[in-house]
Amino acid sequence: MTVQARFDTHDIFNQSPPYEDVDLFASDRPLRDAAEANGAGAEAKALSEFGRHWGAAAMFDAARLANENTPKLKTFDTRGFRRDVVEFHPAYHGFMAESMRAGLHASTWASDGTRAPAPSEVARAVRYFMIAQVENGHMCPITMTRACVGALAVEPSVLQKLIGKITSRTYDPSFRPWWEKDSITLGMGMTEKQGGTDVRANTTTAMPASDGYTLTGHKWFMSAPMCDAFLVLAQAPGGLTCFLLPRFGPDGSVNGVHFQRLKDKLGNRSNASSEVEFAQAFAWRVGEEGRGVRTIIEMVQLTRVDCVISSAGMMRMALAHALHHARHRTVFQKHLSDQPMMRNLLADMALEVEGATALTMRLCRSFDEARSDPTEAARARLLTPAVKYWICKTAPAFIYEAMECLGGNGYVEETPIARLYREAPVNAIWEGSGNVMCLDVLRALSREGEAARTVLQDLVRGCGGLAGAKDAAGSIARTLSAPDGEARARTAVEKLAMLAATAALTESVPVIAECFARARLASPRGGTFGTSDLPQSEAVELLNRALPQ
Ligand SMILES: Cc1cc2nc3c(=O)[nH]c(=O)nc-3n(C[C@H](O)[C@H](O)[C@H](O)COP(=O)(O)OP(=O)(O)OC[C@H]3O[C@@H](n4cnc5c(N)ncnc54)[C@H](O)[C@@H]3O)c2cc1C
Repeated sequence: MTVQARFDTHDIFNQSPPYEDVDLFASDRPLRDAAEANGAGAEAKALSEFGRHWGAAAMFDAARLANENTPKLKTFDTRGFRRDVVEFHPAYHGFMAESMRAGLHASTWASDGTRAPAPSEVARAVRYFMIAQVENGHMCPITMTRACVGALAVEPSVLQKLIGKITSRTYDPSFRPWWEKDSITLGMGMTEKQGGTDVRANTTTAMPASDGYTLTGHKWFMSAPMCDAFLVLAQAPGGLTCFLLPRFGPDGSVNGVHFQRLKDKLGNRSNASSEVEFAQAFAWRVGEEGRGVRTIIEMVQLTRVDCVISSAGMMRMALAHALHHARHRTVFQKHLSDQPMMRNLLADMALEVEGATALTMRLCRSFDEARSDPTEAARARLLTPAVKYWICKTAPAFIYEAMECLGGNGYVEETPIARLYREAPVNAIWEGSGNVMCLDVLRALSREGEAARTVLQDLVRGCGGLAGAKDAAGSIARTLSAPDGEARARTAVEKLAMLAATAALTESVPVIAECFARARLASPRGGTFGTSDLPQSEAVELLNRALPQ
C-alpha cells in the first residue's frame, strides 16, 4: 500500500484515477472520424502529437493555475500616471504562446491575408476542439485575432500593414507600439451599455483627423484588453462605421484607451473582459463610412464558429470524465458503467457528442469549400447560427449531467468539470445570443431564398432516407415560413441543427447516423439526457467509440 493510499483511520479505494496524460485525438474515435471525413485525415499523426501534448497532466494543471490566478487591472502607476494595463499569470502567457505557435490565431490565412487552402479550417478546428478541453479563456484573443482578418480584408492598406505581425507564430505580450513587436493580437469592442445585440444603438463618435479618426465614447464589454488593436464600431459622419483602434497612436504615444474596470465573471476567468472609455483615441477606418455592420459580418461568422468548436470540445471533455469515472467506480458490486440506467445515460450523452463533433467539423468544411462552391457558402451562412444555437445551448446542461455522473466528486474544483460548467454559458451569450441566432437563420432563409432551400434539400438527401429526416425538413420549412414563424423559431432551428448533424454523421459514420436519426429526429428524447431508447448493443458501441477501454 502506498503512503498516499493509507490514512490512520481508513484505506482509500474505489476512486477513479486522474483523467490526464491522454492523447486527446487518438482516444476520441468520433473526432478522428470527423477529421477524416472532412479532409484532415492526412494530418492524423500531427494531430495525435498535438493531442498528447495538450492532454498532458501539466497542461491541465496550468489551466487550473491560469483560472485560479485571475488577471489584474493596473489602471495607474504609483505616481498617478495612467497605465491601463492588465497583468496575467504566467500560465496564461504559456497558453497564448502554445496556441500561437500552433497557429490557432492565423493558420486559416495565407501570408497575404487571403484564405489558406483546405483543409485549413477543419485542421484548425480539430486542434481547437482539443484545446477547448483544457483551457478556453486564452482562446478569446486567439479567436478574435483570426476572425478580425476577415473584416480587415475590406481595407487592404490596413491589412497589408499588419498581416505579417498577425500571422507570426511567436507570442509577444510586451506593451509596445505594434510596429516594434514580433507579433500582435487583435480584439474587438462592439457592445455598449445601451446595446449589444443592437449595435446600431452605438453612441461612440468618430471624427475624421489626420491619418485616421479620433474616437470618443465607451464600450461595456471589451475582452482581452491587452490585444494590440481592436475592431470597434462608432458613429462617423456617414453613419455606423468599423474602425481598427491600436493601443499606441502613430506617434508612438499610448492611445486614449482607458480601462474602467474588469468584469467579475461567472467563468472565462483566465481571460480579462474590460469596460473601457475612448478619449479621443486614434483609429483607422475599416470599410466605408456607414457600412460598419456589413464590414464586421465576416468576422462575426468566424467567431461564431469558434463558439461552436469550443462548446463541442467542452462537451467531449465532460463526457470523457464521466465515462472514465463510471468505468472505475463500483456501486452495489458493479462498475457504474455496467449499471443499466447509467449505461443508457452515458450512451445517450456519447450520441450527443457524436452529433456535435461531426456537425462541427462538417460546418468547418463548408468554410474551407465556400470560396469555390456557392452551395457550401450558403450552407455556412444558414447553418452557422443554427449550429451555434444548438451546440452552445446544449453544452451547459450536458456538462451538468456529466458532473452528476461523478457524484460529489464532480461538484468540486479538483476535476475540471466545475470550470467547464462555469465556462460553457458564455458561448451561447456572446457573438449573438440564442434568440438572435434564430433570427439570423430566419434572415438567411428570407435573403438566400433558393440557395437556402437547396441547402435544406441537400441535408435531406445527405441523410439518405434515415428515419425522421424528411419530416423534420418539412416541419422546419413550414414553421419558419409561417406568419408566426419568429415566435416559434427555436423549435425549428433546433431541428435544423439536428438534421444537419444527422447529415454530417451520415458522411462520417453511417451506423451512428442511423442511431442519431432514430433517437433525435424520429422520436426525440425527453427533457434530460438518458431518456433515449438505445438498444444495449448500440450503447456499448457508442461508449467504446467515445473512449477505448
Ligand atoms: C464574458 C463576456 C465577454 C464579452 N466580450 C465582448 C467583447 O470582447 N466585445 C464585445 O463587443 N462584446 C463582448 N461581450 C458582449 C456580448 O457580445 C453581449 O453581451 C451580447 O452580444 C448580448 O448583448 P447584450 O448584453 O447587450 O444583451 P441584449 O442585446 O440586450 O440581449 C439580451 C437578450 O435579448 C435577446 N434578444 C435580443 N434581441 C432580440 C429580439 N429581437 N428578439 C428576441 N430576443 C432578443 C438576446 O438573445 C439576449 O438573450 C462579452 C460578453 C460576455 C458575457
